[in-house]
Amino acid sequence: MNELVILKLKQIADLLEILGESVYKIRSYRKAVETLNLVTDDISVLAKEGKLKDLPGIGDAISIKIEVIVKTGDSYYLQKLTQKIPLEVTSLMRVEGIGGKTAGRLYQELGVKSITGLEEAIKTGALLKLSGFTEGKVEKIQRAIKFLKKERRALPKIEKIAYGIRDKLMESNLLTKVELGGSFRRRKSTVRDLDLHAIGKEENFEKAMKFFTEMEEVIEVIVTGKLKTTVKLFNNMNVDLRIMEEISDGAGILYSTGARSHTIKLRTIAERKELLLNEYGLYNKDKSKLLASKTETDVYAGLGMSYIPPELREDRGEIEAAMKNELPELITIDDIKGDLHAHTDFTDGKATTEEMIIGAEKKGWEYVAITDHYGKNKIYNPLDEEKLQKQKKELEKISAAVEINVLHGLEIDITKTGGLEVPNEILKDMDYVIASIHSHFDLPEEEMTQRILKALDNEYVNAIGHPTSRMFSKRADYSLNFSKIAKKCNETNTWLEINAQPDRQDIDDHLVFDLKVKAPIYIGTDAHYVKDYEFMQWGINIARRSWCEKKHIINCLSFKDLQKKLTR
Ligand SMILES: [Zn+2]
Ligand SMILES: [Zn+2]
Repeated sequence: MNELVILKLKQIADLLEILGESVYKIRSYRKAVETLNLVTDDISVLAKEGKLKDLPGIGDAISIKIEVIVKTGDSYYLQKLTQKIPLEVTSLMRVEGIGGKTAGRLYQELGVKSITGLEEAIKTGALLKLSGFTEGKVEKIQRAIKFLKKERRALPKIEKIAYGIRDKLMESNLLTKVELGGSFRRRKSTVRDLDLHAIGKEENFEKAMKFFTEMEEVIEVIVTGKLKTTVKLFNNMNVDLRIMEEISDGAGILYSTGARSHTIKLRTIAERKELLLNEYGLYNKDKSKLLASKTETDVYAGLGMSYIPPELREDRGEIEAAMKNELPELITIDDIKGDLHAHTDFTDGKATTEEMIIGAEKKGWEYVAITDHYGKNKIYNPLDEEKLQKQKKELEKISAAVEINVLHGLEIDITKTGGLEVPNEILKDMDYVIASIHSHFDLPEEEMTQRILKALDNEYVNAIGHPTSRMFSKRADYSLNFSKIAKKCNETNTWLEINAQPDRQDIDDHLVFDLKVKAPIYIGTDAHYVKDYEFMQWGINIARRSWCEKKHIINCLSFKDLQKKLTR
């Protein structure tokens, strides 16, 4: 329900923006969406108990609208707005560079309603004729559409929806087990669609499929059968459900988890052993005898290998390693000893320095680095010399009262030409410095690489934050020459960050796979709220998918060893 409410409020805000309504009104809906995104309780329960207005930024008008959505699954207000502008037009705002005003113009002046329509207008040249649309601007829009079309969603953003559907299927009492497979289970940073693997009694299969297709989240049934059904959800994501009997549980979830390249290789190995593997089990050649099927461990053992953790199942050598019993001992969240990237309300963070430090201590960590922005970029409300001194004093006072070790750090901008905006006079007094790219994302690979290499020349820089600056909801990563960067990081003992923010998850696992032995790497949450420390899990996913053991990740070190490493 929470997702549905958030979606409807967001649609209202988008439509108000397209209609050119007051900034104040639009902002209040955006703020409500932001607040509800942080709510962990069930919104429908809060509505029933009349507690919506206790939430920050939710007043009378919006709380009434939420109550209607909770009760009816829809919003009259939203329906009223869509009589003026079709809801579809809001989809244009997903294209980077297109805001409400532009979306409104595209609709009013060209009749463009959808991204497909926009592509058509580019093709026919109609967009270029619109005032204000230069060739450069149109090209940028084209690139943004290409990025969007990948239709990949950040795993953290769909986790709640995925578990919600799983739980509802379980509550139907028609199935005895429902599990998420696919790239979701392999913990990929982004997921295109969901795969559900379920166990039940055969007489209930059809009833369970009917229940599935009639769930309120489903907007379209793409194909349905007794054993497999595919539907489309309200957020345009496809979900596959396969049901089988308990005997096939292990083989079924193995098949559902993939990756395809992994399961295909397993089948080839089965054939080589004169066996047959499918989604129901491992059999002898003429299928007269079932050899293994109940658990994944049984099936892997039947093929002569040890159990392979889902994150590794990409056919990147894991099958060969499992046959030799040489799989890595993957890092876990419990190996992490501290966080090295966190902000406070001295800049764009939302919690005080004290709250952030105590929050880190409550995580059981040995250390935390407070790394607020310093520089000229106003959107981060950056520190200046005066604010920095004030924070330093505050930090010293808090540090004395807590057990956790606190590093006073900074996150500073790498300029277009690789300079740093902060003088060494200031940097030399800091415990720890992250340099990050926050602007000019579209330069060629050579220039981007040079920017970072030049930043690495500064002796006070300890780390490079979110190295490729990708944001799944916004922009693609830029290309970097990572072999050059890794080499220099190694020479200068500068660390590369795996930024664990859900929308970033940067650097990607396919890169860390190689980089982990070439350059020092740490995981940073880039926390702006205390609860953002939970993001550490997304960084761990990347590390596990990259075959990292705890020896590969800097913040698995104790504070004592970390301090030794910090001297450049
Ligand atoms: Zn940053
Ligand atoms: Zn940051």
